[in-house]
Amino acid sequence: MAITEEQRFWLERDFVLELLKQLPSYVFWKNKDSVYLGCNETFAQSLGLSSSDEIVGKTDYDLPTTKEESDAFRADDQQVMNSRKSKLNIEEHQTLPTGEKVVLLTSKVPLLDKENHVIGVLGIYSDITKRKEDEEELRKAKEAAEIASLAKSEFLANMSHDVKTPLSGIIGIAELLTCRLKGEDLKFAQTLLSSGRQLLSFFDNCLEIFKLESGDITLLTDHFSLKEVLAEISHLFQPAVMAKKLTLNIIYHDPIPDYLLGSRAGLYRVLLNLVGNAVKFTHEGFVTIHVHLNKESILTLIVEDTGIGIAQNKQEIIFERFTRLIPSYKGTYEGNGIGLYIVQKFVNTMQGEVHVKSEEGKGSEFTVVLPVQIGEHPSTTEKKLEDTRTQNINSSINKLAKILLVEDNTVAQWMQSALLSSIGGQVEVVDSGEKVLEVFQPGKYDLVFLDLGLPGIQGDVVSRFIRKKEKGSGYHVPIIALTAHKTENINRHSLDAGVDEVFSKPLLREQINQIMDDYLA
Ligand code: ADP
Repeated sequence: MAITEEQRFWLERDFVLELLKQLPSYVFWKNKDSVYLGCNETFAQSLGLSSSDEIVGKTDYDLPTTKEESDAFRADDQQVMNSRKSKLNIEEHQTLPTGEKVVLLTSKVPLLDKENHVIGVLGIYSDITKRKEDEEELRKAKEAAEIASLAKSEFLANMSHDVKTPLSGIIGIAELLTCRLKGEDLKFAQTLLSSGRQLLSFFDNCLEIFKLESGDITLLTDHFSLKEVLAEISHLFQPAVMAKKLTLNIIYHDPIPDYLLGSRAGLYRVLLNLVGNAVKFTHEGFVTIHVHLNKESILTLIVEDTGIGIAQNKQEIIFERFTRLIPSYKGTYEGNGIGLYIVQKFVNTMQGEVHVKSEEGKGSEFTVVLPVQIGEHPSTTEKKLEDTRTQNINSSINKLAKILLVEDNTVAQWMQSALLSSIGGQVEVVDSGEKVLEVFQPGKYDLVFLDLGLPGIQGDVVSRFIRKKEKGSGYHVPIIALTAHKTENINRHSLDAGVDEVFSKPLLREQINQIMDDYLA
């Protein structure tokens, strides 16, 4: 009697059966009604069966799996057979005879006879319970770390605000007093001011360390002019250089493209610390910044000084945080031993290196090697700033500037408006973003000082509102944003919202002067 195609198929299975038995994966096959026709030994063992033959004729409902699990298995079987398409990597759940719940990664393929009729389904799966548990643990650990990091960032932001607000009050009032007092009282006020400033700088540095260590510093890449950064740094240290009768030189050993692509903010911080140290620890001679750029776009900056130098055996530890070779109680040099630690962190973040070469009594050379790229003309925001800066800088403001001060803290309101008035501003104070929406008209103000952390409508929204209102009017009031917690992201976000420049609180008198010069001269 001739055998049917279906019978032939099941006879031939003996050939593969032996092969399947050897497989470490779990394999089974069922007929069109999801009735088991066979499985390998691994599968049988997992279900507590004494041999693979025991599975024949059973359905999932006869096994220790729950009804829901069996329903799901059956639904998948039927889907694969009806669609005639394989279903790969389905995650399934199964209850074992021991009561243990396992997770399976299953692939099911339809079984076809030679005439292409669906006659059953073949399944193969692995037990991924351990992997899932590991993944879950990892997810939980990551979630806990994210919560902790968020809590830390929030704590830092709150602490910045809570410490800087009263500190701003102290510094601001000390600034005002130094303008009003005379004789010994003036000296008291000056000491109060310089102590306040030292405390502020120490606090800012500590915050920076927290941020660096929690990986909170993101150095965004910009198109920027290296020559402009160096000119800014040189300009900043000019008073100290002149007071100490030093010379500060910048030597370009290679042609430098107009714009480079890299982290302007990172480079600025690095130079600020290195040139600051060079000027601080040099009493006669010079400080020179050497600039090299090779064909592979490797930028080398060497800050050389003829200062006190650093002993050979101390040259590594100076990069550790809070390390100062001349301790603070000696009172010779200001500082808190954080600068070089920050330099190294920033340079590393920029994929660069920093080295020191120095001889005691002769001078030091700090070399920074950074990969950069050739940049393009910067964005219009920066161009606008550049244009403003190249205008004639003149400290005297030839008219009484109308200033809108948006600040919710009463001490800061009072102090800043007193400072601004003393410099020549006619100040209108509002304590919320909502009030700006009411009072602002294009052309009404010459300058806006805007606190970013307002209680209701936030500073960035206020800035966008001002720019929208000005659209088509021909006016563009400079908006100076203030924040207690300045980061690269906040900076970028605020510039995108139409702010002209972002400053860290508190604004010092010389910064206000500079802002007035830059934006109102
Ligand atoms: P700070 O200058 O605030 O003390 P830094 O981390 O910038 O902290 O520097 C650590 C120490 O390294 C300084 O206190 C000083 O002893 C030494 N140092 C750094 N730069 C120079 C330099 N150019 N010349 C001599 N000593 C230096």
